[in-house]
Amino acid sequence: MKTRKKLRLFGRGIRTIHKCAPGMLINFVQSPIMSIVPFVNIYFSAQILEQLTNLSTFAQILPNILWCVGLNAVVSFANGALGRVTGLASTKLYIYEHQEMARVMLGLDYETLESTATQKKYEELGNHWMHMGSPLRSPVWDLSSLWGGIITCVLSVAFAAPMAGVLFKKTGEGFLNSPWLAISVCIFIALGVGVVLFTSDRLNKRWFATNKEYIGLEGIFSYYSNMLQDHKTGKEVRIYAQQDLIEHHATEKLAGEGVRLQKKLGATTALSSALLAIIGAILGFGVYLLIGVKGLFGLIGPAVIVQSMGGFLQVVNGLMAIGNSIGRLGAFIPGLNYFFDVIDLVPKHTSGAALADPAGTVDIEFRDVSFRYPDTENYALRHVNFRLQGGEHLAIVGENGSGKTTFIKLLCRLYDPTEGQILLNGRDIRDYDEESYRQLFSVVFQDYQLFALPLGENLACAQEVDEERAMLCIDESGFTPRMDKMTQGLDTYLYRRCDKDGVEISGGEAQKLALARALYKDAPVIVLDEPTAALDPLAEAALYASFNQFAGGKAAIYISHRLSSCRFCAKVAVFGDGALLQYGSHEELIVDEENKYFELWNAQAKYYV
Ligand code: ADP
Repeated sequence: MKTRKKLRLFGRGIRTIHKCAPGMLINFVQSPIMSIVPFVNIYFSAQILEQLTNLSTFAQILPNILWCVGLNAVVSFANGALGRVTGLASTKLYIYEHQEMARVMLGLDYETLESTATQKKYEELGNHWMHMGSPLRSPVWDLSSLWGGIITCVLSVAFAAPMAGVLFKKTGEGFLNSPWLAISVCIFIALGVGVVLFTSDRLNKRWFATNKEYIGLEGIFSYYSNMLQDHKTGKEVRIYAQQDLIEHHATEKLAGEGVRLQKKLGATTALSSALLAIIGAILGFGVYLLIGVKGLFGLIGPAVIVQSMGGFLQVVNGLMAIGNSIGRLGAFIPGLNYFFDVIDLVPKHTSGAALADPAGTVDIEFRDVSFRYPDTENYALRHVNFRLQGGEHLAIVGENGSGKTTFIKLLCRLYDPTEGQILLNGRDIRDYDEESYRQLFSVVFQDYQLFALPLGENLACAQEVDEERAMLCIDESGFTPRMDKMTQGLDTYLYRRCDKDGVEISGGEAQKLALARALYKDAPVIVLDEPTAALDPLAEAALYASFNQFAGGKAAIYISHRLSSCRFCAKVAVFGDGALLQYGSHEELIVDEENKYFELWNAQAKYYV
């Protein structure tokens, strides 16, 4: 990544933090305050020691004791007060990060959401978050710790300064009495600092590159190991005894490549810490040696020794903080990059005016529509021409993979056609506001989802539930016998995930609820994609019987492999290999013995004779 881009990301990160949680920036004040504490203690210890060696009275020493205690108290108080502000700001920023992501992802059209590029960006951000912490908060913590380290180093030099005159003065013959001793130690310290910073930076870059590789492997591992734990895959795993197979795939890469990467990570971390510790020890040794020698010769008093020694030794802490922060700094620009990559996602679909009358009549036309899923080569639909008018009931049939569900997804504008146009009342649906257009549809998808929410809210898709309407829809969907057993009625939570009194329901019962939710919405077009797949024959027959009643004057589309559904729909559309092969009433289509409908119908009918 170019330096200019890094700087831009950094600037944008700081501006975002300043806008959403300015209190977070107080970390930059708090960390230097905390860096001052050791120096307060060093300074007053030196003063008190000086007074003790001069045999001062307790009354003379007392003010220094009081100052020391007082300053410590003030700093602790200030730290506590600032900690409150930064703590609150941190929570605010945490909420912002999550809300902003949810806002952006929800604002995306389904096509962009599902695309490989979006999913990759989302995954990269998630991985970074899990391993390196929050993309906006971590940089502040790391930078303020770096800032604290710099302050510590500067104060250390200032505290050691009183000794400079003595250290650099020639006090006699030989190396120990010459300024060269101090000069050598300074060069030694400067070299030490250089080596720490350079090596930390190199090691950290290596650590991050290796860690990124490792995270990818861990993602594969957790996918497979979740399969062993998840109840959704639990049945297959047990019936087909797939445990060994999955364990093999889960551990194959992690046990080989993963272990190698882990060893490299461990060695890099150990090397970083060892290097910092060794350099700290050498610096400490150099400083002790220098000051000790001068003290031995009686060239400096105990107070100066304490102050200078304390000051010098803080350099080590400062350098450690700088080294560690510099290490983490390597992650914060990629973190900001991942975050803003997600935040900058924009819906691909254009959006226009709201529908004038979302409950009005509909006339939908597919005009030479072809469609390819994003990132795929083959067309799932080809040159489809079709018209659905208000009040029409249509059955869609066709073999697996013939494009039926894709047709519905385009109808609901989850995707835009690759070629051709879909018109609503003569106007391209891309000219309408997407949300307002979707008010036209109640859909029960094959892979419908219900949520761990109270039953009533699942139907109303809102906290406000019209109880009478909900009960009516429950009745029409055939769920009433199960509902009667629920002691908390519409307030009963579905599933035990979020409520210990929640109820588990069967596949067929869930399908009835999905239908009830579609009925509750009461949209002008109702679409049922394989709505009886999980229903028993009686429930299926009941649905057939009531279909015309609840579909009533609405436009209705019924996709099913049970061709008997074609008897209660005025029109039938037959799909095959992405194309609309036939269209007409059952009676019209069944007489054409050369075509698909006749084949499909007879394939099923012969088992009912
Ligand atoms: P049907 O509902 O008739 O069984 P679909 O409309 O689901 O068929 O699928 C039509 C074709 O589109 C199939 O070849 C399927 O593999 C492909 N397809 C469906 N969904 C996706 C998707 N999300 N991405 C890529 N291809 C898809």
